[in-house]
Amino acid sequence: MEDEAAWMERAFSMAQEALEAGEVPVGCLLVYDGAAIGKGRNEVNETKNATRHAEMVAIDQVLEWCQQHKKDHEEVFSHSVLYVTVEPCIMCAAALRLMKIPRVVYGCRNERFGGCGSVLSISSDDIVDTGEPFECIAGYRAKDAVEMLKAFYRQENPNAPKSKVRKKDNRK
Ligand SMILES: [Zn+2]
Repeated sequence: MEDEAAWMERAFSMAQEALEAGEVPVGCLLVYDGAAIGKGRNEVNETKNATRHAEMVAIDQVLEWCQQHKKDHEEVFSHSVLYVTVEPCIMCAAALRLMKIPRVVYGCRNERFGGCGSVLSISSDDIVDTGEPFECIAGYRAKDAVEMLKAFYRQENPNAPKSKVRKKDNRK
């Protein structure tokens, strides 16, 4: 779908913004009724809060949006789609499930922390009283997402402000 490509494009620019700010490059959008009502990128280093993953930031924005627009957040989340550059981690997958977000489109797998099949299958497991399982569409521009993560881990000091991504070879 063309729309999906456009949403993913925006999620990737959020990830790029994270990379430039010295954060693990993950970006996402929560789309409801044709509009991105939640946008997030990793803010863990900036906020010194290990739970400020892109998805949690976007979820908070949607809650705020619902308050402003006097909408029922359960209704809104249950009709939203999350576009995210990397497979949601276990924490975020649990949050998405609790919020009953029905569909997640993501880029590359998250081999170390993934909650949608890579480490645990929070997205699809039969677990009582923990929201609803959700559909995952994996592998959207996975290569691009992996390249960004690699660029991040190549940086010598990820906390350095505004550090530019160095090319491996031209420093010899
Ligand atoms: Zn996460």
